[in-house]
Amino acid sequence: MTPQAPSLLPDDLRMLERGWLSSNNIVCLGDTPAVIDTGHTKHAPQTVALVRELLGDRPLATIAHTHLHSDHCGGTGQLQAAWPSAHTWAPVESLPHVQAWDEDALTFGGTGQRCDRFTASSALVPGDTVRLGNYDWQIHAAPGHDALAVLFFEPLHGLLISGDAMWENGVGVIFPYIEGSDGFDTFTDTLTLIEQLAPRVVIPGHGAPFAREGGAIEAALASSRQRIDYFKAHPAQHALYAAKVMIKYQMMDFESIPHADFKAWLNAMPLMPLLHQQHRPDLSREEWLHMLMESLFDKGVLRRTATHVLNGS
Ligand SMILES: [Zn+2]
Repeated sequence: MTPQAPSLLPDDLRMLERGWLSSNNIVCLGDTPAVIDTGHTKHAPQTVALVRELLGDRPLATIAHTHLHSDHCGGTGQLQAAWPSAHTWAPVESLPHVQAWDEDALTFGGTGQRCDRFTASSALVPGDTVRLGNYDWQIHAAPGHDALAVLFFEPLHGLLISGDAMWENGVGVIFPYIEGSDGFDTFTDTLTLIEQLAPRVVIPGHGAPFAREGGAIEAALASSRQRIDYFKAHPAQHALYAAKVMIKYQMMDFESIPHADFKAWLNAMPLMPLLHQQHRPDLSREEWLHMLMESLFDKGVLRRTATHVLNGS
C-alpha cells in the first residue's frame, strides 16, 4: 500500500494503491467525503485507518462500489461500523443481493471467498450522475469481468474509475463466460465505451493511475483487446488462467493452510468443476487439480511443507 502521489489526480481525489488481494480505494475529499471500493476483508482495519488518516475529523459520507467482488467490498462493513451515518451505494442489479445478503448471487459462494457482511441503501444506475466528494460522476454499465459492474466517469476533468473493467497491465477473469451467461464480446464492448468516453486519466481497481498523455490508456486498450481476443480464440487458456487466479487469490487470504483443509476448499468451490470442463475435460478432476497445483508449486506461486500449503511469491 502506497498513498498515491497526486500528480495525475486533483488534490481532492486520492487513490490508496493497495495490492492484488485488496483493490485500490479512491477517496474523494471535500464537504461530503466518499470512498469508492473498500478492499478485502483481511485488510479492513487498515482500510479504515487509511481513510481516517485522509479525512481527519470529517466523517465519511458515502461508500460506493464499482462491483461487489470480495476484493472491492470487503472493507465496507468495517467502514460502516466506523462511520455509521455513511450512505452506501451498490450497482443497481447487485443492490437486492446485498440487501438479502445472498452470498451466491454476490459471488462469494461460487468463488469460495469471504466477505464481511454490509448493508447498502442506494442503487448506482447507469445513466445517472452521482456526487461524490467535489465531483459529479456519470455511472456507466461495465459488463465483462463482472456482469453487474459499473464505471464512474467525471467528464470535466476526464477522470475514469474503471474498477476491474480496465487495468494498465493484463485483464481480469471473465466470470460471466465461466458461468455461461455471456461471452468475451461484452468485455470488448466495455473497452469501446471507455475509448468513446476518452478519459484523460484512468484510476483502476488494481495498479497505479495511468494517463492518455504519453499513450498509456491507448496501449492499455490495445493490450486488453488483444488478451480478450486471445481468450476468445483459446477459451481453455482462459479457464486455466481463471483457475490459477482463483487459487492464488485465496492463498493470499489463507497464507498458510493444512493440505486437507485446502483440498476441502478446492473441492467445495463451485467454479472449479466448470473451469475443469472448460480447460481439460479429458482429464479426471483429480488429475486436473494435481496438474494445476504442481504447476503453481513449480513456479513458486505456491509453496508446500509436509503439512501445509503456503502462499508463495
Ligand atoms: Zn473484480
